[in-house]
Amino acid sequence: MVYHAFLIKYAEIAIKGKNRYLFEDALVKQMRLALSKVSGEFEVKKEQGRVYVFCPEEYDYDEAVEALKTVFGIVEFCPVVICEDQGIEQTQKDVVEYIRAAHPGFDKTFKVYTRRANKHYPMTSMEVSAEVGHAILEAFPDCRVDVHEPEQVISLEIREKIYIYSQSIKGPGGMPIGTNGRAMLLLSGGIDSPVAGYMIAKRGVSIDAVYFHAPPYTSERAKQKVVDLAKQVAVYSGPIRLHVVNFTDIQLYIYDQCPHDELTIIMRRYMMRIAEHFAKENRCLGLVTGESIGQVASQTMQSLMATNDVCTMPVYRPVIGFDKQEIVEIARRIGTFETSILPYEDCCTIFVAKHPVTKPVVNVIRASERKLEEKIDELMETALRTTEVITIG
Ligand code: ATP
Ligand code: MG
Repeated sequence: MVYHAFLIKYAEIAIKGKNRYLFEDALVKQMRLALSKVSGEFEVKKEQGRVYVFCPEEYDYDEAVEALKTVFGIVEFCPVVICEDQGIEQTQKDVVEYIRAAHPGFDKTFKVYTRRANKHYPMTSMEVSAEVGHAILEAFPDCRVDVHEPEQVISLEIREKIYIYSQSIKGPGGMPIGTNGRAMLLLSGGIDSPVAGYMIAKRGVSIDAVYFHAPPYTSERAKQKVVDLAKQVAVYSGPIRLHVVNFTDIQLYIYDQCPHDELTIIMRRYMMRIAEHFAKENRCLGLVTGESIGQVASQTMQSLMATNDVCTMPVYRPVIGFDKQEIVEIARRIGTFETSILPYEDCCTIFVAKHPVTKPVVNVIRASERKLEEKIDELMETALRTTEVITIG
């Protein structure tokens, strides 16, 4: 069956008044962006309190559905068949034909729900529902009407034309990108940070990212892996400016000057400082990491506090309370998992100590960092200046 449109449903309750326009405009923009990658022409329109995608030409249905599943703000969407308004008898026939195609051997309990947007239509919605219901009962003897708990609702929307739909496809929920500012994601090649990026984007936040690599200790393939992860997150979040920072000299210097059991914490503090620099440069309102309490030594409450100590911006940690398994489930669903588990080296693991401190004390860490005074400013300056920015998505 050819569907002529999609009706887009979104959580309206949360967005009253002026916010509703901002929300809908952002939603429409993101839908256009997602559909621009699908073969075929699409018209995304806000009409009479509804958001529709019209598909006037031949198009790839499966691709269009996949694209809409990536647009935050969409709770569900319904493929719609549109017929000319040629009177109720023709509409009865059209609905029966629609059910034959969409629900072969229809034998469920059902009700017809009619919404009358065209106020000039000569019948009330109740009358239309009743007439169409009769036609369905006649055409499919095994079905039955149940207006209270129907297994299937057949919906009609009466406009200039008659819109028929009954199926609903789940969207990703959340808020449209662009409704909630921008944040800087610390994106590693691991499982957690791409999921963290996805989750913050789901709240309507645009994202940019920063990746720390340590050539020649980390390879080009490890970098490519992060680029691939950013591409996958960008399917949902829209374009990401990925900042690739050469972290080698800073890491080596810390390795030379500081106690080895504090390496990870001190490195993480420099990562945060650099990330915050680029966050400010890109007008971000916060940092985002994939940290989860207790997952590794650098993610105990004490370690998080020591890392957080250098940040002046809020640090968002969307997976903070999740078990690894829960994070993995999301990673699989959004398509980052297979890339994340590729076995390339990571800059943190190369310089990691055998027995890292699990309960760092902020003042002790600060004192250790003083051993870096001589050269760190210059190394930081070089790292910032040589950062490569790749626009993804
Ligand atoms: P992930 O799976 O996201 O790599 P992880 O469990 O391996 O997380 P860590 O290596 O301790 O945890 O890193 C914690 C967080 O710090 C990451 O989620 C990420 O946000 C950030 N991070 C770590 N390494 C890097 C890196 N090389 N580049 C950018 N961000 C990083
Ligand atoms: Mg990691």
